[in-house]
Amino acid sequence: MAKPTIVIVGGGFAGLAAAKALRKTPAKVLLIDRTNHHLFQPLLYQVATSELAPGQIATPIRSIFRNQKNTTVILGEVTGVDKAQKCVIVSDADRQNVPIAYDYLILATGASHSYFGHNEFAEYAPGSKSLADAEAARNKILQAFELAEAEEDPNRHRDLLTFILVGAGPTGVEMAGALAIFVRSTLKSDFRRIDPASARIVLVDTAHVLGTFSESLSKAAKQRLAKLGVEVLLGHSVDQIDSDGIVVAGQRIASKTVIWTAGVAPSPAGKWLNAETDRAGRVRIQKDLTVPEHPEIFVVGDTASLDQNGKPLPGVAQVAMQQGRYAGKLIHNRIVGSPLPGPFSYFDKGTMAVVGKGFAVLQSGKVQVSGFGAWLTWAAVHLQFLATSSLRLSVFLQWVWTYVTGQRGDRLIVSHHDSAPVSTPVKEAVRGAA
Ligand SMILES: Cc1cc2nc3c(=O)[nH]c(=O)nc-3n(C[C@H](O)[C@H](O)[C@H](O)COP(=O)(O)OP(=O)(O)OC[C@H]3O[C@@H](n4cnc5c(N)ncnc54)[C@H](O)[C@@H]3O)c2cc1C
Repeated sequence: MAKPTIVIVGGGFAGLAAAKALRKTPAKVLLIDRTNHHLFQPLLYQVATSELAPGQIATPIRSIFRNQKNTTVILGEVTGVDKAQKCVIVSDADRQNVPIAYDYLILATGASHSYFGHNEFAEYAPGSKSLADAEAARNKILQAFELAEAEEDPNRHRDLLTFILVGAGPTGVEMAGALAIFVRSTLKSDFRRIDPASARIVLVDTAHVLGTFSESLSKAAKQRLAKLGVEVLLGHSVDQIDSDGIVVAGQRIASKTVIWTAGVAPSPAGKWLNAETDRAGRVRIQKDLTVPEHPEIFVVGDTASLDQNGKPLPGVAQVAMQQGRYAGKLIHNRIVGSPLPGPFSYFDKGTMAVVGKGFAVLQSGKVQVSGFGAWLTWAAVHLQFLATSSLRLSVFLQWVWTYVTGQRGDRLIVSHHDSAPVSTPVKEAVRGAA
Protein backbone atom coordinates (compact mmCIF):
# COMPACT_ATOMS: atom_id res chain seq x y z
CA MET A 1 0.00 0.00 0.00
CA ALA A 2 1.27 3.50 -0.88
CA LYS A 3 2.50 5.55 2.04
CA PRO A 4 0.22 8.46 3.01
CA THR A 5 1.48 12.02 2.39
CA ILE A 6 1.51 14.46 5.29
CA VAL A 7 1.95 18.09 4.23
CA ILE A 8 3.09 20.51 6.92
CA VAL A 9 2.99 24.20 6.00
CA GLY A 10 5.33 26.29 8.17
CA GLY A 11 8.69 25.44 9.72
CA GLY A 12 8.19 27.57 12.83
CA PHE A 13 7.81 26.20 16.36
CA ALA A 14 4.57 24.32 15.62
CA GLY A 15 5.53 22.91 12.20
CA LEU A 16 8.93 21.77 13.42
CA ALA A 17 7.48 20.01 16.46
CA ALA A 18 4.89 18.26 14.25
CA ALA A 19 7.50 17.07 11.75
CA LYS A 20 9.76 15.77 14.55
CA ALA A 21 6.83 13.87 16.09
CA LEU A 22 6.38 12.13 12.72
CA ARG A 23 9.99 10.94 12.43
CA LYS A 24 9.09 7.24 12.82
CA THR A 25 5.83 7.39 10.89
CA PRO A 26 5.56 5.23 7.75
CA ALA A 27 4.58 8.23 5.63
CA LYS A 28 5.96 10.83 3.25
CA VAL A 29 6.27 14.08 5.21
CA LEU A 30 6.52 17.27 3.14
CA LEU A 31 7.47 20.40 5.06
CA ILE A 32 6.84 23.60 3.07
CA ASP A 33 8.08 27.01 4.20
CA ARG A 34 8.49 30.30 2.36
CA THR A 35 11.85 30.86 4.05
CA ASN A 36 14.68 28.37 4.20
CA HIS A 37 15.12 28.78 7.95
CA HIS A 38 13.49 28.13 11.28
CA LEU A 39 13.52 31.40 13.20
CA PHE A 40 13.75 31.74 16.96
CA GLN A 41 11.49 34.80 17.18
CA PRO A 42 11.90 35.43 20.93
CA LEU A 43 15.49 36.60 20.29
CA LEU A 44 14.73 38.81 17.27
CA TYR A 45 15.10 41.90 19.45
CA GLN A 46 18.72 40.92 20.13
CA VAL A 47 19.45 41.00 16.39
CA ALA A 48 17.71 44.39 16.14
CA THR A 49 19.87 45.73 18.97
CA SER A 50 23.13 44.26 17.62
CA GLU A 51 23.69 41.70 20.38
CA LEU A 52 23.37 38.64 18.16
CA ALA A 53 23.94 38.06 14.45
CA PRO A 54 21.01 36.81 12.33
CA GLY A 55 22.70 33.43 11.88
CA GLN A 56 22.68 32.89 15.66
CA ILE A 57 18.89 32.77 15.93
CA ALA A 58 17.97 30.96 12.71
CA THR A 59 18.79 27.52 11.30
CA PRO A 60 18.23 26.12 7.79
CA ILE A 61 15.17 23.87 8.08
CA ARG A 62 16.80 21.43 5.66
CA SER A 63 19.74 20.91 8.01
CA ILE A 64 17.45 20.22 10.98
CA PHE A 65 15.90 17.29 9.07
CA ARG A 66 19.01 15.98 7.36
CA ASN A 67 18.81 12.70 9.28
CA GLN A 68 15.01 12.35 9.13
CA LYS A 69 14.69 10.32 5.97
CA ASN A 70 10.88 10.38 5.66
CA THR A 71 10.86 14.21 5.53
CA THR A 72 11.35 16.39 2.44
CA VAL A 73 11.74 20.15 2.82
CA ILE A 74 10.35 22.43 0.09
CA LEU A 75 10.99 26.17 -0.20
CA GLY A 76 7.73 27.69 -1.40
CA GLU A 77 4.84 29.96 -0.50
CA VAL A 78 1.45 28.35 0.05
CA THR A 79 -1.32 30.56 -1.30
CA GLY A 80 -4.37 28.37 -0.88
CA VAL A 81 -5.89 25.02 0.04
CA ASP A 82 -8.28 22.99 -2.11
CA LYS A 83 -10.12 20.94 0.50
CA ALA A 84 -12.17 19.02 -2.10
CA GLN A 85 -9.12 17.92 -4.12
CA LYS A 86 -7.02 17.60 -0.93
CA CYS A 87 -4.13 19.70 -2.15
CA VAL A 88 -2.27 22.89 -1.20
CA ILE A 89 -1.36 25.46 -3.83
CA VAL A 90 2.32 26.40 -3.79
CA SER A 91 4.37 28.99 -5.68
CA ASP A 92 8.10 29.60 -5.77
CA ALA A 93 10.44 31.79 -7.79
CA ASP A 94 10.33 29.30 -10.65
CA ARG A 95 6.77 27.91 -10.71
CA GLN A 96 3.37 29.34 -9.83
CA ASN A 97 0.29 27.69 -8.29
CA VAL A 98 1.54 24.11 -8.22
CA PRO A 99 -0.93 21.74 -6.49
CA ILE A 100 0.64 19.42 -3.91
CA ALA A 101 -1.63 16.59 -2.76
CA TYR A 102 -1.99 15.55 0.86
CA ASP A 103 -3.68 12.84 2.89
CA TYR A 104 -3.13 14.83 6.09
CA LEU A 105 -2.51 18.56 6.26
CA ILE A 106 -1.02 20.54 9.15
CA LEU A 107 -1.21 24.33 8.76
CA ALA A 108 1.31 26.04 11.04
CA THR A 109 1.74 29.36 9.28
CA GLY A 110 2.03 31.62 12.33
CA ALA A 111 1.26 35.33 12.38
CA SER A 112 2.46 38.64 10.98
CA HIS A 113 2.19 42.29 12.14
CA SER A 114 -1.05 44.06 12.70
CA TYR A 115 -1.04 47.84 12.51
CA PHE A 116 -4.62 47.86 13.83
CA GLY A 117 -6.03 49.21 10.58
CA HIS A 118 -3.22 51.75 10.10
CA ASN A 119 -1.23 49.99 7.41
CA GLU A 120 0.23 53.36 6.40
CA PHE A 121 2.35 53.17 9.59
CA ALA A 122 4.32 50.26 8.14
CA GLU A 123 6.41 52.53 5.90
CA TYR A 124 7.82 54.46 8.87
CA ALA A 125 7.60 51.93 11.69
CA PRO A 126 8.95 48.51 10.65
CA GLY A 127 7.79 45.56 12.75
CA SER A 128 9.80 42.74 14.25
CA LYS A 129 8.56 39.38 12.99
CA SER A 130 11.24 38.19 10.57
CA LEU A 131 15.02 38.25 10.25
CA ALA A 132 14.66 40.90 7.52
CA ASP A 133 12.60 43.03 9.96
CA ALA A 134 15.23 42.70 12.68
CA GLU A 135 18.05 43.59 10.26
CA ALA A 136 16.04 46.59 9.02
CA ALA A 137 15.55 47.79 12.62
CA ARG A 138 19.26 47.28 13.37
CA ASN A 139 20.19 49.27 10.25
CA LYS A 140 17.85 52.08 11.27
CA ILE A 141 19.20 52.26 14.81
CA LEU A 142 22.88 52.18 13.79
CA GLN A 143 22.29 54.61 10.94
CA ALA A 144 20.68 57.13 13.32
CA PHE A 145 23.94 57.33 15.29
CA GLU A 146 25.99 57.66 12.10
CA LEU A 147 23.74 60.47 10.80
CA ALA A 148 23.92 62.27 14.13
CA GLU A 149 27.73 62.03 14.24
CA ALA A 150 27.94 63.46 10.70
CA GLU A 151 25.40 66.22 11.47
CA GLU A 152 27.02 69.51 12.41
CA ASP A 153 23.82 71.15 13.65
CA PRO A 154 23.48 70.00 17.29
CA ASN A 155 19.75 70.89 17.20
CA ARG A 156 19.16 67.92 14.91
CA HIS A 157 20.97 65.49 17.18
CA ARG A 158 18.02 65.20 19.53
CA ASP A 159 15.61 64.10 16.76
CA LEU A 160 18.10 61.67 15.29
CA LEU A 161 18.83 60.18 18.69
CA THR A 162 15.21 59.67 19.72
CA PHE A 163 14.07 56.06 19.40
CA ILE A 164 10.38 55.23 19.73
CA LEU A 165 8.96 51.77 20.30
CA VAL A 166 5.21 51.38 19.85
CA GLY A 167 3.82 48.56 22.03
CA ALA A 168 4.91 47.69 25.58
CA GLY A 169 4.33 43.93 25.43
CA PRO A 170 7.30 41.56 25.86
CA THR A 171 8.83 42.52 22.48
CA GLY A 172 8.70 46.29 23.13
CA VAL A 173 9.94 45.97 26.71
CA GLU A 174 12.78 43.62 25.77
CA MET A 175 13.85 45.83 22.88
CA ALA A 176 13.66 49.03 24.94
CA GLY A 177 15.79 47.48 27.70
CA ALA A 178 18.37 46.12 25.26
CA LEU A 179 18.51 49.42 23.38
CA ALA A 180 19.06 51.35 26.61
CA ILE A 181 22.03 49.14 27.56
CA PHE A 182 23.37 49.38 24.00
CA VAL A 183 23.37 53.18 23.83
CA ARG A 184 24.45 53.81 27.42
CA SER A 185 27.31 51.31 27.58
CA THR A 186 28.35 49.66 24.29
CA LEU A 187 28.42 52.83 22.19
CA LYS A 188 29.65 55.19 24.86
CA SER A 189 33.27 55.62 23.60
CA ASP A 190 32.68 55.21 19.87
CA PHE A 191 31.59 58.71 18.85
CA ARG A 192 33.26 62.13 19.04
CA ARG A 193 30.56 64.71 18.26
CA ILE A 194 27.61 63.07 19.95
CA ASP A 195 27.03 61.43 23.30
CA PRO A 196 25.16 58.16 22.58
CA ALA A 197 24.18 57.94 26.25
CA SER A 198 22.02 61.04 25.75
CA ALA A 199 19.77 59.12 23.35
CA ARG A 200 16.08 59.25 24.23
CA ILE A 201 14.18 55.95 24.24
CA VAL A 202 10.40 56.22 24.38
CA LEU A 203 8.07 53.24 24.86
CA VAL A 204 4.41 53.93 24.06
CA ASP A 205 1.35 51.78 24.81
CA THR A 206 -2.40 52.24 25.09
CA ALA A 207 -2.52 50.14 28.26
CA HIS A 208 0.16 48.76 30.62
CA VAL A 209 3.73 47.59 30.49
CA LEU A 210 3.64 43.78 30.03
CA GLY A 211 -0.14 43.77 30.20
CA THR A 212 -0.40 39.95 30.26
CA PHE A 213 1.73 39.71 33.41
CA SER A 214 0.53 40.31 36.99
CA GLU A 215 0.24 43.87 38.25
CA SER A 216 3.31 43.55 40.49
CA LEU A 217 5.52 42.20 37.69
CA SER A 218 4.25 44.87 35.31
CA LYS A 219 5.20 47.47 37.94
CA ALA A 220 8.64 45.89 38.47
CA ALA A 221 9.31 45.97 34.71
CA LYS A 222 8.19 49.60 34.49
CA GLN A 223 10.47 50.60 37.37
CA ARG A 224 13.38 48.78 35.79
CA LEU A 225 12.78 50.55 32.47
CA ALA A 226 12.76 53.91 34.27
CA LYS A 227 16.09 52.99 35.91
CA LEU A 228 17.51 52.29 32.45
CA GLY A 229 16.38 55.72 31.31
CA VAL A 230 13.47 54.54 29.12
CA GLU A 231 10.52 56.98 29.04
CA VAL A 232 7.29 55.01 29.29
CA LEU A 233 4.19 56.69 27.91
CA LEU A 234 1.01 54.78 28.77
CA GLY A 235 -2.71 55.24 28.19
CA HIS A 236 -2.55 56.67 24.68
CA SER A 237 -2.65 55.16 21.23
CA VAL A 238 -0.42 56.58 18.52
CA ASP A 239 -2.43 58.83 16.18
CA GLN A 240 0.13 59.31 13.47
CA ILE A 241 3.49 57.95 12.36
CA ASP A 242 5.42 59.65 9.56
CA SER A 243 8.97 60.44 8.48
CA ASP A 244 9.31 63.01 11.26
CA GLY A 245 8.20 60.85 14.19
CA ILE A 246 4.88 60.17 15.90
CA VAL A 247 1.89 62.05 17.22
CA VAL A 248 0.58 60.72 20.53
CA ALA A 249 -1.97 62.36 22.86
CA GLY A 250 -1.93 65.40 20.55
CA GLN A 251 1.85 65.87 20.97
CA ARG A 252 4.47 65.30 18.32
CA ILE A 253 7.58 63.42 19.32
CA ALA A 254 10.25 63.98 16.67
CA SER A 255 12.21 60.86 15.77
CA LYS A 256 13.84 59.23 12.78
CA THR A 257 13.58 55.74 14.27
CA VAL A 258 10.17 54.32 15.13
CA ILE A 259 9.79 50.56 15.58
CA TRP A 260 6.47 48.75 15.74
CA THR A 261 6.37 46.25 18.60
CA ALA A 262 2.58 46.01 18.99
CA GLY A 263 -0.11 43.71 17.53
CA VAL A 264 0.00 40.54 15.50
CA ALA A 265 -2.41 39.20 12.87
CA PRO A 266 -2.69 35.50 12.00
CA SER A 267 -1.76 34.10 8.60
CA PRO A 268 -4.60 33.79 6.03
CA ALA A 269 -5.11 30.07 6.82
CA GLY A 270 -8.74 30.80 7.79
CA LYS A 271 -9.41 32.26 4.33
CA TRP A 272 -7.69 29.38 2.54
CA LEU A 273 -9.94 26.93 4.40
CA ASN A 274 -13.04 29.09 4.37
CA ALA A 275 -13.31 28.07 8.01
CA GLU A 276 -14.74 29.74 11.10
CA THR A 277 -12.29 32.16 12.70
CA ASP A 278 -12.18 34.15 15.94
CA ARG A 279 -12.27 37.96 15.96
CA ALA A 280 -8.54 38.16 15.33
CA GLY A 281 -8.87 35.88 12.28
CA ARG A 282 -7.40 32.73 13.84
CA VAL A 283 -8.95 29.42 12.73
CA ARG A 284 -11.30 27.93 15.32
CA ILE A 285 -10.17 24.38 15.88
CA GLN A 286 -11.52 21.41 17.83
CA LYS A 287 -10.01 19.74 20.89
CA ASP A 288 -8.05 17.36 18.64
CA LEU A 289 -6.71 20.43 16.73
CA THR A 290 -8.61 19.59 13.54
CA VAL A 291 -10.94 21.83 11.58
CA PRO A 292 -14.65 20.90 12.00
CA GLU A 293 -15.77 18.26 9.45
CA HIS A 294 -12.17 17.79 8.25
CA PRO A 295 -10.43 15.20 10.44
CA GLU A 296 -7.51 15.27 7.99
CA ILE A 297 -6.79 19.04 8.42
CA PHE A 298 -5.00 20.33 11.52
CA VAL A 299 -4.30 23.98 12.31
CA VAL A 300 -1.73 24.67 15.06
CA GLY A 301 0.24 27.47 16.69
CA ASP A 302 -0.33 31.21 16.33
CA THR A 303 -2.76 30.83 13.44
CA ALA A 304 -5.14 28.59 15.46
CA SER A 305 -7.72 29.54 18.06
CA LEU A 306 -8.59 27.14 20.88
CA ASP A 307 -10.12 27.87 24.28
CA GLN A 308 -8.98 26.16 27.44
CA ASN A 309 -10.72 26.76 30.78
CA GLY A 310 -12.90 29.37 29.06
CA LYS A 311 -9.93 31.43 27.80
CA PRO A 312 -8.21 31.42 24.40
CA LEU A 313 -4.72 29.93 24.45
CA PRO A 314 -2.03 32.61 24.02
CA GLY A 315 0.10 33.01 20.89
CA VAL A 316 3.34 31.79 22.44
CA ALA A 317 6.02 29.32 21.44
CA GLN A 318 5.05 26.75 24.12
CA VAL A 319 1.49 26.48 22.81
CA ALA A 320 2.78 26.14 19.24
CA MET A 321 5.29 23.42 20.16
CA GLN A 322 2.82 21.42 22.27
CA GLN A 323 0.14 21.64 19.57
CA GLY A 324 2.57 20.67 16.81
CA ARG A 325 3.75 17.66 18.82
CA TYR A 326 0.16 16.61 19.54
CA ALA A 327 -0.93 16.87 15.89
CA GLY A 328 2.11 14.82 14.78
CA LYS A 329 1.44 12.16 17.40
CA LEU A 330 -2.26 11.93 16.56
CA ILE A 331 -1.56 11.46 12.85
CA HIS A 332 1.14 8.90 13.63
CA ASN A 333 -1.25 6.88 15.80
CA ARG A 334 -3.96 7.02 13.16
CA ILE A 335 -1.59 5.73 10.50
CA VAL A 336 -0.11 2.90 12.56
CA GLY A 337 -3.47 2.06 14.15
CA SER A 338 -2.51 2.87 17.76
CA PRO A 339 -5.03 4.26 20.29
CA LEU A 340 -5.58 7.98 19.79
CA PRO A 341 -4.49 10.50 22.45
CA GLY A 342 -7.15 12.32 24.49
CA PRO A 343 -8.12 15.92 23.73
CA PHE A 344 -5.29 18.45 23.54
CA SER A 345 -4.48 20.13 26.84
CA TYR A 346 -1.92 22.93 27.14
CA PHE A 347 0.53 22.72 30.02
CA ASP A 348 1.57 26.26 30.89
CA LYS A 349 5.22 26.34 32.01
CA GLY A 350 5.10 30.09 32.57
CA THR A 351 6.05 33.27 30.77
CA MET A 352 9.08 35.52 31.01
CA ALA A 353 10.38 38.83 29.73
CA VAL A 354 13.86 40.26 30.10
CA VAL A 355 14.34 43.94 30.94
CA GLY A 356 17.92 44.97 30.25
CA LYS A 357 21.07 43.35 31.62
CA GLY A 358 20.62 40.78 34.39
CA PHE A 359 16.92 41.44 35.05
CA ALA A 360 13.80 39.54 34.01
CA VAL A 361 10.27 38.94 35.20
CA LEU A 362 8.91 35.41 35.44
CA GLN A 363 5.34 34.25 36.01
CA SER A 364 4.45 30.59 36.37
CA GLY A 365 1.18 29.69 38.11
CA LYS A 366 1.34 31.34 41.52
CA VAL A 367 5.10 31.94 41.24
CA GLN A 368 5.99 35.53 40.39
CA VAL A 369 9.61 36.61 40.54
CA SER A 370 11.74 39.38 39.12
CA GLY A 371 15.46 40.15 39.16
CA PHE A 372 18.69 38.29 38.46
CA GLY A 373 17.39 34.79 39.30
CA ALA A 374 14.53 35.23 36.83
CA TRP A 375 17.04 36.44 34.24
CA LEU A 376 19.22 33.33 34.71
CA THR A 377 16.11 31.15 34.25
CA TRP A 378 15.17 33.16 31.15
CA ALA A 379 18.66 32.66 29.70
CA ALA A 380 18.67 28.90 30.42
CA VAL A 381 15.19 28.35 28.93
CA HIS A 382 15.97 30.33 25.78
CA LEU A 383 19.24 28.50 25.24
CA GLN A 384 17.47 25.17 25.68
CA PHE A 385 14.90 25.93 22.97
CA LEU A 386 17.31 27.09 20.28
CA ALA A 387 17.14 24.65 17.37
CA THR A 388 20.67 23.20 17.39
CA SER A 389 23.54 22.68 19.85
CA SER A 390 25.85 24.85 17.73
CA LEU A 391 23.43 27.78 18.12
CA ARG A 392 23.17 27.11 21.85
CA LEU A 393 26.95 27.24 22.25
CA SER A 394 27.38 30.28 20.01
CA VAL A 395 24.62 32.29 21.74
CA PHE A 396 25.84 31.27 25.21
CA LEU A 397 29.40 32.45 24.42
CA GLN A 398 28.13 35.69 22.91
CA TRP A 399 25.96 36.40 25.96
CA VAL A 400 28.87 35.77 28.34
CA TRP A 401 31.13 38.00 26.21
CA THR A 402 28.54 40.80 26.05
CA TYR A 403 27.78 40.51 29.77
CA VAL A 404 31.44 40.78 30.72
CA THR A 405 32.73 43.29 28.14
CA GLY A 406 29.58 45.15 27.06
CA GLN A 407 30.56 44.51 23.43
CA ARG A 408 27.96 43.37 20.92
CA GLY A 409 28.13 40.67 18.25
CA ASP A 410 26.89 42.32 15.08
CA ARG A 411 26.93 46.08 14.56
CA LEU A 412 26.98 46.12 10.77
CA ILE A 413 24.72 48.27 8.64
CA VAL A 414 23.82 45.96 5.75
CA SER A 415 21.56 47.75 3.29
CA HIS A 416 20.75 44.97 0.84
CA HIS A 417 18.56 47.05 -1.42
CA ASP A 418 20.49 50.31 -1.37
CA SER A 419 23.51 49.31 -3.43
CA ALA A 420 21.99 50.41 -6.80
CA PRO A 421 21.65 54.15 -6.05
CA VAL A 422 25.22 54.24 -4.75
CA SER A 423 26.68 52.58 -7.85
CA THR A 424 24.63 54.62 -10.35
CA PRO A 425 26.47 57.93 -9.96
CA VAL A 426 29.79 56.05 -10.10
CA LYS A 427 28.80 54.49 -13.43
CA GLU A 428 27.59 57.82 -14.72
CA ALA A 429 30.82 59.50 -13.63
CA VAL A 430 32.85 56.87 -15.51
CA ARG A 431 30.64 57.27 -18.58
CA GLY A 432 30.96 61.05 -18.37
CA ALA A 433 34.74 60.81 -18.18
CA ALA A 434 34.95 58.54 -21.27
C1 LIG B 1 9.47 39.45 18.37
C2 LIG B 1 8.78 38.27 19.00
C3 LIG B 1 9.12 37.85 20.27
C4 LIG B 1 8.49 36.77 20.86
N1 LIG B 1 8.87 36.36 22.11
C5 LIG B 1 8.32 35.26 22.64
C6 LIG B 1 8.77 34.75 23.89
O1 LIG B 1 9.65 35.35 24.54
N2 LIG B 1 8.18 33.62 24.36
C7 LIG B 1 7.22 32.95 23.66
O2 LIG B 1 6.75 31.91 24.11
N3 LIG B 1 6.77 33.40 22.49
C8 LIG B 1 7.30 34.53 21.95
N4 LIG B 1 6.86 34.98 20.74
C9 LIG B 1 5.76 34.27 20.07
C10 LIG B 1 6.26 33.01 19.38
O3 LIG B 1 7.40 33.30 18.61
C11 LIG B 1 5.14 32.47 18.51
O4 LIG B 1 4.06 32.16 19.36
C12 LIG B 1 5.58 31.22 17.77
O5 LIG B 1 6.60 31.55 16.85
C13 LIG B 1 4.41 30.61 17.02
O6 LIG B 1 4.85 29.50 16.34
P1 LIG B 1 4.16 29.08 14.97
O7 LIG B 1 4.84 27.82 14.55
O8 LIG B 1 2.70 29.10 15.10
O9 LIG B 1 4.52 30.26 13.97
P2 LIG B 1 5.94 30.77 13.49
O10 LIG B 1 7.01 30.40 14.44
O11 LIG B 1 5.74 32.21 13.17
O12 LIG B 1 6.20 29.97 12.16
C14 LIG B 1 5.41 30.13 11.01
C15 LIG B 1 6.20 29.60 9.83
O13 LIG B 1 5.32 29.52 8.73
C16 LIG B 1 5.96 30.03 7.58
N5 LIG B 1 4.92 30.53 6.70
C17 LIG B 1 4.00 31.49 6.98
N6 LIG B 1 3.16 31.65 5.94
C18 LIG B 1 3.55 30.78 4.98
C19 LIG B 1 3.08 30.47 3.68
N7 LIG B 1 2.02 31.11 3.15
N8 LIG B 1 3.72 29.52 2.96
C20 LIG B 1 4.81 28.90 3.48
N9 LIG B 1 5.28 29.14 4.71
C21 LIG B 1 4.67 30.07 5.46
C22 LIG B 1 6.86 31.13 8.11
O14 LIG B 1 7.94 31.39 7.22
C23 LIG B 1 7.34 30.51 9.43
O15 LIG B 1 8.51 29.76 9.27
C24 LIG B 1 7.48 36.07 20.14
C25 LIG B 1 7.13 36.49 18.86
C26 LIG B 1 7.78 37.58 18.29
C27 LIG B 1 7.41 38.01 16.89
